[in-house]
Amino acid sequence: MIGAGQAGLSAAFHLRRAGFEPEGDFVVLDHAPRPGGAWQFRWPSLTYGNVHGMHSLPGMELTGADPARPSAEVVAEYFAAYERTFDLRVRRPVDVRRVSEGEGEDSERLIVETSDGVWATRALINATGTWDRPFWPRYPGQETFRGRQLHTAQYPGPEEFAGQRVVVVGGGASGTQHLMEIAPYAASTTWVTRRPPVFREGPFDEERGRAAVALVEERVRQGLTPLSVVSVTGLPVNDAIREARANGVLDRLPMFDRITPTGVAWDDGHAVEADVILWATGFRAAIDHLAPLKLRTPGGGIRMEGTRAALDPRVHLVGYGPSASTIGANRAGRAAVREIRRLLSREAPVVA
Ligand SMILES: Cc1cc2nc3c(=O)[nH]c(=O)nc-3n(C[C@H](O)[C@H](O)[C@H](O)COP(=O)(O)OP(=O)(O)OC[C@H]3O[C@@H](n4cnc5c(N)ncnc54)[C@H](O)[C@@H]3O)c2cc1C
Repeated sequence: MIGAGQAGLSAAFHLRRAGFEPEGDFVVLDHAPRPGGAWQFRWPSLTYGNVHGMHSLPGMELTGADPARPSAEVVAEYFAAYERTFDLRVRRPVDVRRVSEGEGEDSERLIVETSDGVWATRALINATGTWDRPFWPRYPGQETFRGRQLHTAQYPGPEEFAGQRVVVVGGGASGTQHLMEIAPYAASTTWVTRRPPVFREGPFDEERGRAAVALVEERVRQGLTPLSVVSVTGLPVNDAIREARANGVLDRLPMFDRITPTGVAWDDGHAVEADVILWATGFRAAIDHLAPLKLRTPGGGIRMEGTRAALDPRVHLVGYGPSASTIGANRAGRAAVREIRRLLSREAPVVA
């Protein structure tokens, strides 16, 4: 198993429940220094009360957390307790660099090369999330900008932007949260997005959730790159968003055409001066280490059947595409283990 975030821990829990022994039958490898998956790296102002709905892992509820505490701390503590409770023995920091086909006596196995040795495995659950692959679009003039450019993955919280003119790029939940936090500190904020944002009033009921997941599922079945969740669900409106829209913080401009040394500019002559460009432009699946397996289609994604890579039944991707949410990751962990049990039923179980 590669990755000990929500998806990896869920899969590890189900492996344990199915009778697989940690270290003997499976290992969990993670390159982060501590428990917490990507949550441990999220900015301090992203409090537990601010996240959209974090589902507990299977078998142990996260209860009584103080909503004012950073989600990075709350989730890291919860994951650490979870790993201890179920004795998951995550090995860290272990960086997985390459997964390839075995040869000779290992020809049935996958070879997992890491910073801490090599494993040969009959099945692989890849749960590496997206945090390690921030997506930065390229725009003409970007290298000439004299101010600061950073991505959501490096966002430090709002205080650093005091008195500065900040352009936030991106129409997702991170972009809107950055704007609402930064606006009270900054000299000015400007929001630019490729497509007009779609704000969604009313509760996000199960039916809408299922429809959104089905859309992403269909894409990965075809081998296309997964869409971001917000692009299918829209931005949920709460009181803070309503207020920010009313006072102009979420007035959006279309994407600029180029970056200048002192800001951003549109072909119609409009320009905005800026000290900072904050790219809230999302993340891509962190799956470069799987490249030797040649699972990618010309569409750029991996063609999936449920959690299984269509081209290699030994490889499962959890937390990928339709399962890239805490609830989706939980379900994917269970589904992957069910299939792997079937796959290994005629063989001695060994899962990396
Ligand atoms: C800012 C932000 C806020 C979010 N808020 C919510 C929310 O409120 N509710 C919700 O449901 N979802 C939310 N999501 C999405 C959510 O984080 C994920 O769907 C879920 O937590 C991801 O779990 P994961 O296990 O797939 O990935 P991660 O938590 O990213 O875990 C992946 C793990 O794999 C490890 N790893 C990666 N590559 C390697 C490698 N090569 N070798 C070894 N280890 C590796 C990493 O160290 C990491 O520990 C949010 C996402 C972001 C970016």
